Formats: sequence, structure tokens, C-alpha cells
Amino acid sequence: VRPKNKSYNIALHGGAGALRPHKYTSKQIQQYEGCLRTALSKGDEILSKGGSAIEAVIETVVIMEDSPLFNAGRGSVFSSDETIEMDASVSCGKRVQTGGVTNLTRVKNPVWGAFHVLENSKHALLSGLAADHYCREAGLEHESIQYFKTEHRLKQLKEAQEKNIVQLDHGDKVGTVGAVALDKTGNLASATSTGGMTNRYPGRVSDTSIQGAGTYAENELVAISGTGTGDFFIQNVLAFDMAAMMKYADIPMDEAAQRVLEKLEEAGGSGGLVAIDKYGNVTLPYNTHGMFRAWLNEDGEIQTGIFK
Ligand code: ASP
Repeated sequence: VRPKNKSYNIALHGGAGALRPHKYTSKQIQQYEGCLRTALSKGDEILSKGGSAIEAVIETVVIMEDSPLFNAGRGSVFSSDETIEMDASVSCGKRVQTGGVTNLTRVKNPVWGAFHVLENSKHALLSGLAADHYCREAGLEHESIQYFKTEHRLKQLKEAQEKNIVQLDHGDKVGTVGAVALDKTGNLASATSTGGMTNRYPGRVSDTSIQGAGTYAENELVAISGTGTGDFFIQNVLAFDMAAMMKYADIPMDEAAQRVLEKLEEAGGSGGLVAIDKYGNVTLPYNTHGMFRAWLNEDGEIQTGIFK
């Protein structure tokens, strides 16, 4: 889909997983839809005023990081040792470069950390305490551990530990968050942020922070933000695989997206993605029961979706 009268576009996801209508009250659905809408309209507003794709995806993601509804920033899920570890990336299509942070524990908005790595460091990815430190030096807001921890997430961890599984954020609070955008000057960008997977080994790195795995952007081609079982995204280099199909084999974006999801499923993983091409076409496929998502329809109006 693409709005007819706009020379820019934006779409977002709030995570994919075992989302089923019976697990949610209508009030909860309203809350999710409200947040998705607020986040998308922020990005839309920035782009309409001529702001950059990078700014739009970051500000969109910040709104979802600040919401306890999603698995990013506040509301992140727990690692097996009951710590919170957050990963994020910002991908710039113009330079085909990503800035990433992984295993942050205190930074209020990991996506801003990723932006600083992209713009101001000589590196692609910073990790752990050093990354927390880097963000502090950059002047980014830090929060107490209590800010990130929610009772609900602790309960999810206990359940995952009883079953001895590492799980996607499948409960009634789902999702890694991400956004992709094309701005009026033709630049593409993506941003993704996650608390990872419940009960993962401490220090585990997600696809969210890794170029070509859960994130990718290249001008004149595509910007991608993935969500799902990240270890499989890393093993199969899924975001880059999709971009490569488009670049080298001229496969249309929708089809390339479907193919990587098939690959993900064959490998034993699950999830989804949002992507935007150089014309502003958007695709939002997933192979789970649902994916929190929002986009602009043909008339430029905001649409949200959760279930199939
Ligand atoms: N991709 C994220 C991870 O593996 C999880 C998610 O998308 O919900 O940590």
C-alpha cells in the first residue's frame, strides 16, 4: 500500500507473536491501537513537514519505547537472571550504515543510543555496560532498574522458566517495536528496539541490533525492520536476504518478504517485518497469529492492525 497523494510514507510494527483476540479485552485493544496510532501519526507529521526518514522512525519508536505495552524500553521482558537487557538499531539508507546498541540496562530510549552510535562513533555496534556508559556520555536519559521492570514481565519469566523455554513475547503484552520510512528527499531509514526474548541467556544479542539480520536500509531499494525469533533472523541473515533478492534478482518487495518468512519458518522460527521500498510502497507480512502494526492507506489515513 501507498498513499496516493504523498511523496513520503511510514509504517511500523509493535511485535509479532501468538496474538489472539480472546486474550485481550476491548479496553486493551483500544490502548494498543491508540499507541500505534499516536506513534505513526508522530512519524507522519515529521515527514509531512519535510523531516528526515531517520528522525521520523526514531520519534515513532520512542513513543512505543515509552509505553509499557510493548517489549522495548519500558516494559521490556526479562533475561533468565531477572535483568533487563535492551537492544536497538537505526539504519540509514543513504549511507547504508547501521548504528546499534545491545544489552543496555539503564538507557530510557535505546533507539537514541543507536542513533548516537550511528552518527558519532566510529563503530557499528556497542554492547553492555560500555554501551550504557557511551549513552550516558552522549547525554541520554537513564532510568532506574525499577522503571523498566513490570510485574507482568516477571510473571512471564517465571512461566517461561517453568516450561524451560526461551520465548517470544507471546503473552498479552507483545512486542519488539520498529518503523520504516521514506522521506520527501528519497532517503530510506529503519529503526528497531527490543527487550529481547523472555528467559534468554544473559548477554544474548538479538537480531534487532544487527545489520542485515533484523534491520537493513539502502536508498533506491528498501528499508526493513524485523520482529520474531531473532536467533533465526541472525542465522539466515534475513533482512539482507530480502534486500538482495530485490537488488540482484529484481524480485518484488512483497514476494521477497514472503520468501524470507518462509525461510524463517523452515528454519523453525516465527515473526514478521515491515518494509518500504523507494517508491513508498509498504508491506507488513508475518507468519504468526498476529502482529501489532500501523500504516497509511491509499488516502493517507492511519490504519492499525493486530490480528490476522
Ligand atoms: N527479535 C527479537 C529478539 O529476538 C524479539 C522480537 O522481535 O519480539 O530479541
